Amino acid sequence: MQIRKHFRFEAAHSLPSHPGKCARMHGHSYRLEVAISGTLHRDGPARGMVEDFDALEALVTAEVLDALDHRTLNDIVENPTAEEIALWMWRRLQPKLSSLEELVLWETPSACVVLKRGDPSTASE
Ligand SMILES: [Zn+2]
Repeated sequence: MQIRKHFRFEAAHSLPSHPGKCARMHGHSYRLEVAISGTLHRDGPARGMVEDFDALEALVTAEVLDALDHRTLNDIVENPTAEEIALWMWRRLQPKLSSLEELVLWETPSACVVLKRGDPSTASE
């Protein structure tokens, strides 16, 4: 079974090698979906759950949102395209969240990147 939680953050970036307006510094209201999958816990505080939504929120907040929200992404991720930001997030979250299955990062209301477990780009370099 898969569970999914949505997050938002605001950040600035520029893409210097982009031939268009994205080369200029500008901001986005990013939306992030984090999906994890597994079997239901049979006992303990997360009984009947894949994972406690509150625990998932705390982890994503600590590992990703606190680092990126209201910041200039170029200071954190080289060439911060939505794809590169999603990969950076994956590398932060996956070691602490082995059940991570999918990240969806919306840069605008109509443009997103989807990164799934098993994608070759998630393999460590
Ligand atoms: Zn942009």
